[in-house]
Amino acid sequence: MKRNIVILGAGVSGNAVKKLAQVLGDNAKIVCDNDTDLLPACDLVVASPGVPPLKSHLYQQAENSGVELIGELEYAFRTCRFPLLAITGTNGKTTTTELTSHLLKKCGVDAVAAGNIGRPLADVVADALVSGRNPDAVALEVSNFQLEKAPTFAPFAAALLNLASDHEDRYRDGFAGYCRVKKSIFDRVDAAHRVYGLSFADMPHRITRSGNSLCDGDTVLLNTRETALAAPHNQENLAAALELTHLFLGKYPVLPGAVADFRPGAHRIERVAEIAGRSFIDDSKATNPHAVFAALAAMQSPVVLLLGGLDKGMDFAPFGKLAPPEIRAVVLFGECRKKMRDALKGDFPVFDGGMDFVETLKLAAQASRQGDAVLLSPGCASFDMFQSYGERGDRFREIALQLTRDDFP
Ligand code: ADP
Repeated sequence: MKRNIVILGAGVSGNAVKKLAQVLGDNAKIVCDNDTDLLPACDLVVASPGVPPLKSHLYQQAENSGVELIGELEYAFRTCRFPLLAITGTNGKTTTTELTSHLLKKCGVDAVAAGNIGRPLADVVADALVSGRNPDAVALEVSNFQLEKAPTFAPFAAALLNLASDHEDRYRDGFAGYCRVKKSIFDRVDAAHRVYGLSFADMPHRITRSGNSLCDGDTVLLNTRETALAAPHNQENLAAALELTHLFLGKYPVLPGAVADFRPGAHRIERVAEIAGRSFIDDSKATNPHAVFAALAAMQSPVVLLLGGLDKGMDFAPFGKLAPPEIRAVVLFGECRKKMRDALKGDFPVFDGGMDFVETLKLAAQASRQGDAVLLSPGCASFDMFQSYGERGDRFREIALQLTRDDFP
């Protein structure tokens, strides 16, 4: 029987839900907060992950309407007929999702990377139904937004990489609410199929770290120095991807060859320019404090750190630990400069680039010494000054490449 479905949000997810609804023969209508404040009569409401529950009038109306309200993930999962390897955590989701599908493909598996990474699960399910061909497995990046309203979501296996302050403004109880939603990825996953990131020291791990090596019991699987994933945070991602692959296949891919040609995506601790003896490093994807500390742990030289952007109700207190000699100077920019300034306690110069990114880079250049890294690892979202973290990283590179000798001391 045809159902009437209302979709909240007209972004990539909303449109993928509409596509799947059409394949399933349902009537689907997309509504947005600024379109209308009237929720049409319907059988089911599907919310896109980008619709903020506490701020969206339509979402609240839907919640109080008595009609079933689910998220895009749940809607797609209800007709999904292939195994999912789901990945969440505060940081490392995209890298681990790409890596898991990469490793599975190396083993001859028809694997797809989907979810928060860009292609919604609803789109993969719709295409599979139309073509009559299911992928062997989907490595699925799952955000906390997507885990909300997913009451039957049950992946074959799941990984929780790490948990740290992020998106606290989405939940009435802040960090506790954020963690509760993240952990719910395991609610319907067999205990043997749950993978915890290495940062959960008190949880069982099939794969452990010994220096630069990843091991399964006494067996050394690989030396991460033979890969592009030697930094501690990427070891965590690699260990999780290997555990998921092992759970699915019952074996590991041939290592280290299977990892050798894998690189983390753009804007993730990416060296984009070498100017006047300084390395310019774009880590624009670091949108919370935890990711900033991962970047700093991967640095080999003193750092001029560019911090700032849009706050998500995050705890900046960890920035109080920043100190010389690792930190040469900090340049602040963007909306949350005052909160960020208040968090800094270390004995290093702090400059204010305001809402001007060119000025921010010029101040960073002036503060740097030969051999330093100038690191954009902002620890905040980008939407106060840019369309996306990608645009922020691209601008960083463009401006850096325009600096001249006169910009340096
Ligand atoms: P996500 O999809 O969770 O945002 P990404 O793989 O895109 O994760 O990486 C986002 C940021 O987090 C980058 O700055 C990256 O260097 C950093 N990062 C990646 N993996 C980890 C990890 N396991 N722990 C801490 N930081 C990480």
